[in-house]
Amino acid sequence: MAAQVKRCQKCPRLVNHCQSIAKVKRKAYLEDRYWGKPVPNLGTHDVSLLVIGLAPGAHGANRTGRMFTGDRSGEWLYRTMYKFGFSNQPNSDSRTDGLELIDAAITNICRCAPPDNKPDKTELSNCRPYFSETLGLADPIVMMALGALAWNATIAAAVDVNWLEAPKRRPKFAHGERLKLKDGRWLIGSYHPSQQNTFTGRLTQRMFDSVFRTSKRLIEKSSI
Ligand code: SF4
Repeated sequence: MAAQVKRCQKCPRLVNHCQSIAKVKRKAYLEDRYWGKPVPNLGTHDVSLLVIGLAPGAHGANRTGRMFTGDRSGEWLYRTMYKFGFSNQPNSDSRTDGLELIDAAITNICRCAPPDNKPDKTELSNCRPYFSETLGLADPIVMMALGALAWNATIAAAVDVNWLEAPKRRPKFAHGERLKLKDGRWLIGSYHPSQQNTFTGRLTQRMFDSVFRTSKRLIEKSSI
């Protein structure tokens, strides 16, 4: 799937946006060769934890070519994953920095960096088959959705792969919210570790730790 994703051009607006960011660059990264295309999943098949974000950061994953790598959101995510034993190091700077996930994988519901971090409905729908396929490949016990869009997309994809009966009313996203799925699987919601949330204190390290602690506990208690 990674090869297919890298070549994907289903969303012309996003493909153009990724390429134009890669040409113009940010001043601090003028020497870098930007990735500038769709970013594939990170991690292997059959993991316990699947972390689900929204989309690559314009100067983070769209620059480095690896999920949540090279920006502030990634600093929060990997620091916390390391703390709870889901990665071999707390930092993620480039595709060659030696990072390895441990029994975990990371994906986004949209694999191209969108203008203003806002993919439209068609773009999310174009990317949905990759996401549903990712669920099957990762086969996780716990899915951690970072933000309401990831939460809603995960519920839709969980219905696609028959891990959840289509709900009459969609369960609402909240930080720390849990939803039990079939076969002992869980969906847990967390605020996204974007600067918008971490700089304003909407998401604190303690709150982020708490959803990872719960995820770890659910994984340890699982009989899958
Ligand atoms: S967002 Fe997804 S479907 Fe759209 S071009 Fe990127 S990889 Fe393809």
